[in-house]
Amino acid sequence: MAYKKGSKYEITVKAPTQLLKPLTVPTKTLTGPGPSNCSNRVLKSLGNQLLGHLHAETIQLMDEIKLGIQYIFQTRNRLTLAVSASGHGAMEASLGNILEAGETILIVVNGFWGERAINMASRLAGVTVRSIRSEPGIPIDLRQLEESLKEHKPDVVFMVHGESSTGMRQPLEGFGDMVHKYGGLLIVDTVVTIGSEPFFMDDWSIDVVYTGSQKVLGAPPGLSPISFSLLAERKIFSRKTTVPVFYWDMTLLGEYWGCFDKPRTYHHTISATLVYGLREALARIAEEGLEASWSRHKTAGKILKRGLALRGLQCFVKNSEYQLNGLVSIELPPGVDGKLVCEYAMKKYKVEISGGLGPTNGKVLRIGLLGVNASGKRIGSIFRALDDGLRNSSKSKL
Ligand SMILES: *Cc1c(COP(=O)(O)O)cnc(C)c1O
Repeated sequence: MAYKKGSKYEITVKAPTQLLKPLTVPTKTLTGPGPSNCSNRVLKSLGNQLLGHLHAETIQLMDEIKLGIQYIFQTRNRLTLAVSASGHGAMEASLGNILEAGETILIVVNGFWGERAINMASRLAGVTVRSIRSEPGIPIDLRQLEESLKEHKPDVVFMVHGESSTGMRQPLEGFGDMVHKYGGLLIVDTVVTIGSEPFFMDDWSIDVVYTGSQKVLGAPPGLSPISFSLLAERKIFSRKTTVPVFYWDMTLLGEYWGCFDKPRTYHHTISATLVYGLREALARIAEEGLEASWSRHKTAGKILKRGLALRGLQCFVKNSEYQLNGLVSIELPPGVDGKLVCEYAMKKYKVEISGGLGPTNGKVLRIGLLGVNASGKRIGSIFRALDDGLRNSSKSKL
């Protein structure tokens, strides 16, 4: 039938019957490497009506978010905001603002996220990408970095604080000063570590830091905190070419977020819903206090690791000094099909246990105790699901 009398057009693509059924979303225990569960406080905030992206109330919430990000990063940088994207967007924004054609970046690789940064940096026209590698699960030290700085003379160095593919924490003290000594700037990925591991952006002289909202903070993905040191800000403003992507251009985003004492202008429509969620997630961590959050994650990680040791299970990262608090990679015991364990835990217990990623693919199980999930109560459900899963996932049963 024509949609209007006399029209030659007809609705031939019908309204899908699937959409006529009510929405159903199960509640799962999200104890993989992310996302983690939102707190009730965050969930409640997401049901509020939208506001405009330049309304005074939205701007006030954005200002509060900026203060919260300065707190969790431990920085006084004025160019501090959240990009409207998941962690990957912040990762591309950090590289795209700081690097220009003709420059060299040195990327520290000891897992999946270093490789991902290589992939992204290689897409930037005219940028030379070099890497320094260590075995997955083993951090690099200052001496190795210095050798590489002398060899490659990079303009920018990229490091990952918490390599969530392996469960490894890369120590960062001294690295910023070392990079500066050779004239470069340091970018650090803290997506899985902010809130779960001690981190001091200013004291450690780091130039660009970004994190995600859906890991320790426990907000929905879609807004990713990022901050630039004064050195980094100056570099962005003295670029010979404009930042290649409008959406993540910090000279414009910084204006929208009110970082430069200039009137705010429309850049894009920020999701007010995500602003509510991130504001409440940051409020929760401000109330708890960073030190308390770090130690809660540390205690949860310890309890989990003790339980694993009692079961004869080994961590992928051998040196406990470099094991992350909030994310543990467990070596698969011989004869166990990791994929089956994860499927079993999800199907029977709605508990997320994740497989490996990149160099640990097929070799480990990963358990995340991030944000609200860093608690003894969750560890009980994880072990119920894990024990049952391991019993029912031997390869011989296939
Ligand atoms: C999860 C994660 C990311 C990517 O974040 P998305 O929100 O999935 O885009 C980047 N780096 C690390 C270390 C992560 O754990």
